[in-house]
Amino acid sequence: MDFAKRWCKKLKPKEKPKPSPKKEVRSNGKEGLRVSSNEAPSNATKQKVEAAKQYIENHYKEQMKNLNERRERRNVLEKKLADSEVTEEEQNNLLKHLEKKETEYMRIQRHKMGADDFEPLTMIGKGAFGEVRICREKTSGNVYAMKKLKKSEMLRRGQVEHVKAERNLLAEVDSNCIVKLYCSFQDEEYLYLVMEYLPGGDMMTLLMRKDTLTEDEARFYVGETVLAIESIHKHNYIHRDIKPDNLLLDKFGHMKLSDFGLCKPLDCTNLQEKDFTAANNLSGALQSDGRPAIPKRTQQEQLLHWQRNRRMLAYSTVGTPDYIAPEVLLKKGYGMECDWFVSLV
Ligand code: ADP
Ligand code: MG
Repeated sequence: MDFAKRWCKKLKPKEKPKPSPKKEVRSNGKEGLRVSSNEAPSNATKQKVEAAKQYIENHYKEQMKNLNERRERRNVLEKKLADSEVTEEEQNNLLKHLEKKETEYMRIQRHKMGADDFEPLTMIGKGAFGEVRICREKTSGNVYAMKKLKKSEMLRRGQVEHVKAERNLLAEVDSNCIVKLYCSFQDEEYLYLVMEYLPGGDMMTLLMRKDTLTEDEARFYVGETVLAIESIHKHNYIHRDIKPDNLLLDKFGHMKLSDFGLCKPLDCTNLQEKDFTAANNLSGALQSDGRPAIPKRTQQEQLLHWQRNRRMLAYSTVGTPDYIAPEVLLKKGYGMECDWFVSLV
């Protein structure tokens, strides 16, 4: 309470603002600078105020969002239970179970996770930037796959944006066709992505073991691949490394897309059909009457157009040689369609 009063006092405007800063002698005898209350704050102060405002706003927005989502989850369950033939006692038990899970979830969110919370077990993958290991969470005993990426290696190879995109995609896209991220954290040397563990192996191993899939099996896996690719495209990301090795199987035999180390966010918010046409014509394609498909632009217009396309298209030649789509190799810019190429080969 005292604390609040002190703050209120501080926030009250001074009665008589002094015209200019003056040196004053304080009761302790030391000289100080008195600043008049109508003097404009410096840019640095303004920036700090703006940052604090943003932080507080985001914090409360996030809290409200979580609260609403929690309420929504309870409403959905209540509705489902009301429509079902479950006894009242069972209904209460299920609702209690949901509340328990919600509380657990909030506790996990408050706790700052670190590598010490996990016991490393078998190594299941080793890549250029680090390793993937099965690990067990010490408190719950749950098993996860932990991808550990060496920071210095990623800086050296200019992969920082890629790993940011990988983490953001995993956190943003909530789909059953995408491997789930449990948490992510870092220490001095490594970045860690803790994901659900998919114990069924990858599609490459399955294809090598079975050689040929039956038509039903092929339809099933192609269907799940299409759903997975679509779920990331909906969030404006392209994967750029779709291949059987990155399609993993869960314990039920369902397939999930993983390894977002080459994924790229595309700014498609302003993308319209004409942009696709223009992008397709970047290579200088001609219309049927032989005229260039897009009118000639001034240099300035061309620069603006290029900058805009840069946000909407990817240009780097990335991927795995056996599965690279032709437009990626052409170096003229490509979009989401490159992810569909591999599903056709
Ligand atoms: P890289 O960039 O090295 O290819 P990946 O994310 O593809 O990294 O991981 C390498 C290997 O680790 C995969 O081929 C797969 O065998 C294994 N792996 C990765 N994530 C998981 C997971 N969530 N569950 C089970 N195995 C995984
Ligand atoms: Mg991989």
